[in-house]
Amino acid sequence: MNKIGIFGGTFNPLHLGHINSVVNVAEKLSLDRVFVVPAFQNPNKDPVEGPSPEQRLEMAETGFRPYDYVAQVDDIEIQRKGNSYTVDTLKLYAENYKADELHLIVGADAFYEFDTWKDFEEILSLCNIIVTSRPGMQLPFSVKDIPSGIQPFVALFDRNYVQLTTGRHIEFVRVEDVDVSATEIRKKLRNGLRVEKYLTFEVENFIKEKQLYKPLDSQIRNYEEFTMFCAKKLWSKKAIGLRGFDLSSMSAPTEYTLIASGTSSKHASSIAEVVMAEIKDEYGVLPIALEGLREGRWVLLDYGSLIIHLFYDFVRQEYGLENLWKEGKEIDLSEIKNT
Ligand code: ATP
Repeated sequence: MNKIGIFGGTFNPLHLGHINSVVNVAEKLSLDRVFVVPAFQNPNKDPVEGPSPEQRLEMAETGFRPYDYVAQVDDIEIQRKGNSYTVDTLKLYAENYKADELHLIVGADAFYEFDTWKDFEEILSLCNIIVTSRPGMQLPFSVKDIPSGIQPFVALFDRNYVQLTTGRHIEFVRVEDVDVSATEIRKKLRNGLRVEKYLTFEVENFIKEKQLYKPLDSQIRNYEEFTMFCAKKLWSKKAIGLRGFDLSSMSAPTEYTLIASGTSSKHASSIAEVVMAEIKDEYGVLPIALEGLREGRWVLLDYGSLIIHLFYDFVRQEYGLENLWKEGKEIDLSEIKNT
């Protein structure tokens, strides 16, 4: 019988946490081969500025090349395009392997959200699941620690091993800690900070060569103008309480900031979506980081030297962010508001 691992991810960028996980699991569980599957688009992640799916694929191939005795990158999701659902990928693997041969490898963070994945119940029949430790996260100790959607499928919970009613099992595997996330690396790269301890030499070179994760200054040359452009867009989408601050005299993480609200969380999300699309049209960029878009309570669009905060107005009152910027200079937006 074959013992096959499948390791999916966005790999934006591929870092040592990923590689360490694959190599450790393959060794500990004596896997014959691990297929590394870069997602075209993770349906649970909002698209941010960065490499194309094809470049992420190439980066994964570059990073895993030295480990080709065990790992092999599969472009199946990149070719398929659209939202990358693990269940669809597993169904294709099921054509070549028996369910008991397949082992889906996920980090603890991904596992705790597992019951939000499309057709997760079916996944519990299609393959076994290997959950790896991730710094700052506990592995489950008992049934009540695992996602509630999976609990009805538990036949037996025995420390690191969970027998499922589907015939498959879940195994918890402690891997060497590599305390890093792709989000953190992207932030560091955009700010020109060093990242070599998180990446392989080959991946670091690939990033340099392709000029990935550069600050947005080459597309947004004048941030003062850009801030006014965004303010106009927010105003035209009926954002309320629009204010802008120049924070360059403060030790703030950004130079400019705009804050506004929607009358509901839905309104805040929809303003954010439309404004993002218009910025993309005009400047060709997406935010380098994006938070809270789905919930719409506090949406943060990070464009490097400009950060836009969009609140559901009720939530905005709770935080009073403007108080933090008292030492900055308020930008006069009266001209925009009169148009
Ligand atoms: P992001 O910060 O953008 O969310 P990420 O670093 O979590 O990215 P993904 O591409 O989303 O990277 O992760 C793919 C898989 O690798 C997931 O199952 C995730 O749990 C696992 N993983 C990521 N980083 C680590 C790490 N440092 N240690 C162990 N597993 C990790």
